[in-house]
Amino acid sequence: MTNNSLFEQNNFKQNNRRPRIVVIGGGYAGMSSVLRLARNSQAEIHLVNPQERFVERIRLHEAASGRNLRTFMIPTLLRGKGVIFHQAWATHIDWRARQVTLSDGTTLGYDRLVYSLGSQIDRTTPGVRDHALALEDLRAATQITASLDALPLASEVLVVGGGLTGTELVFELAERYPHLRWTLVAREAYDRGYAPAAREYFLAGLARRGITLRTGITVQAVEADHLVTQVGNMPFALCLWAGSFRAATLGRESGLAVNEKDQLLVDETMRSLTSPEIFVAGDSAALPASYQPYLVMGCKTAMPMGVHAAENLLGELRGEAPQPLRYTYMVTCVSLGRHDGLIQVLQPDGEPVSKFLSGRSAAWVKEIICRFTVITLQLERHFNFYDWFIPARSQERIQEQRPAHGHGL
Ligand SMILES: Cc1cc2nc3c(=O)[nH]c(=O)nc-3n(C[C@H](O)[C@H](O)[C@H](O)COP(=O)(O)OP(=O)(O)OC[C@H]3O[C@@H](n4cnc5c(N)ncnc54)[C@H](O)[C@@H]3O)c2cc1C
Repeated sequence: MTNNSLFEQNNFKQNNRRPRIVVIGGGYAGMSSVLRLARNSQAEIHLVNPQERFVERIRLHEAASGRNLRTFMIPTLLRGKGVIFHQAWATHIDWRARQVTLSDGTTLGYDRLVYSLGSQIDRTTPGVRDHALALEDLRAATQITASLDALPLASEVLVVGGGLTGTELVFELAERYPHLRWTLVAREAYDRGYAPAAREYFLAGLARRGITLRTGITVQAVEADHLVTQVGNMPFALCLWAGSFRAATLGRESGLAVNEKDQLLVDETMRSLTSPEIFVAGDSAALPASYQPYLVMGCKTAMPMGVHAAENLLGELRGEAPQPLRYTYMVTCVSLGRHDGLIQVLQPDGEPVSKFLSGRSAAWVKEIICRFTVITLQLERHFNFYDWFIPARSQERIQEQRPAHGHGL
């Protein structure tokens, strides 16, 4: 069994050296991965992340509304685990030489790399970088708050993007700034991924908050005070950009095979197709086509992926064959402001059933789920919590191919 282990292949024992695992990116996927690795192996483990603070990206819309988020520090989450933390950017991967270069000038050799650099909001539409604010990070969230605070009564604010980010953002902000005029601009209609009654609830929620919904709009460019679209110009006092996500570009720049969103192409076991020494997890990973309709970018995918990549890596150290990722969602959760929400129950194949939860109880469930992400990391410090938490049916592999969903709520 152990004949093919990474230990045997590289004569680590003979050379009196521990295998070195480098995890780049300390978001939901990277943190899940590094904690699982640290507790279950004798390897030398490094984590590279530009901030010391663990950024709860799923709460950035709350930060944009002026809410102070709790602070969780990565060194605290890693305390006592023996992980060497580098507060730096990874700037290049020489995957042939198995080396990562960091922004502080360090070159880190590795035996195995976990690539979990996540994604950013796609700002490639002309004019977005110059004339719109995107909810990229905590600094951008603060900038959005300051810009909204400065707007006169009844100013027009356009939120572009009908995915989860745009939807949660517009509800959160319309609740906090009811004296402004809010429009949610989406390319696709909200007609997939939710039961008809849930969709009706969502549309009624928009009306209650005074948010105008414009669907079927393709934004061609953003000018200083208006959007250019296929149905004409749309004026704004402030434009908030929440289009789809693009993965970090480092993999492409380093010559690894990527898709059109810069996600690294991986096999079912989450290893890069270019360099099998690299495991990929989270928004940066593009699993084979059969997974695509089911798995979307999200922390709900990033965390199980992070754990799974770590488990496959640990298995390899022991000489075991890597396992394919088996995962699907049970619910879709969306917050509609602080006191309202929607929890749509899904079949194992991702199709919505008629059951859904709404209102305050849904907002409460969503809040619990958000808290749970960090609690999961805290518990992973002590035992393999995620394995216990993922319900059995989520472990099942989806067998049949289904058409891709559009952007859900
Ligand atoms: C407002 C908002 C609400 C959301 N709500 C939900 C939700 O309800 N449910 C859900 O499932 N998803 C939600 N998402 C999506 C979710 O946040 C992401 O899918 C998730 O964060 C992906 O996790 P990740 O670990 O892959 O990447 P990230 O969380 O983005 O982490 C990547 C990490 O890598 C670091 N990094 C980047 N480049 C480098 C580099 N070169 N070197 C070193 N480190 C680097 C980053 O600084 C970051 O710490 C939401 C997103 C937003 C913006």
